[in-house]
Amino acid sequence: MKYRKFGTKYVLRIDKGEEIVETLKKFCREFDIKLAAVSGIGATNHATIGLFNTSTKQYHSRQLTGNFEITNLSGNVSSMNGEVYLHLHITLSGSNCSAFGGHLNSAVISGTCEIVIDLIDGVLDRQFDEDVGLNIYKI
Ligand code: FE
Repeated sequence: MKYRKFGTKYVLRIDKGEEIVETLKKFCREFDIKLAAVSGIGATNHATIGLFNTSTKQYHSRQLTGNFEITNLSGNVSSMNGEVYLHLHITLSGSNCSAFGGHLNSAVISGTCEIVIDLIDGVLDRQFDEDVGLNIYKI
């Protein structure tokens, strides 16, 4: 991973073989990023994406292997229990150019990945909400 900072934005290049979520988490820890918006594009050949079932309150994830364009990666950085909390969604497109996506658990970069982290000046925690079964913004 390589990066540059421009004002309140970081531009990152995540390289072949690196995993997006772990790379971003480490980066946010290292630079003490507490609140931000994340967006990106790239390519992956191995991803795990999930869907949260709001009835059963459980995540169902599936692993995908093949050549995929990351046509969109979007999400945010916040915090929970003093730890960096990433919430990322991804849209992938395969050989027939149709797109699908979900909650991003992990994705290994096969080509390159270009990310922008847009800092927000503040801190926002999360808390578990019994009703929905998710860690939601504490607003
Ligand atoms: Fe999600």
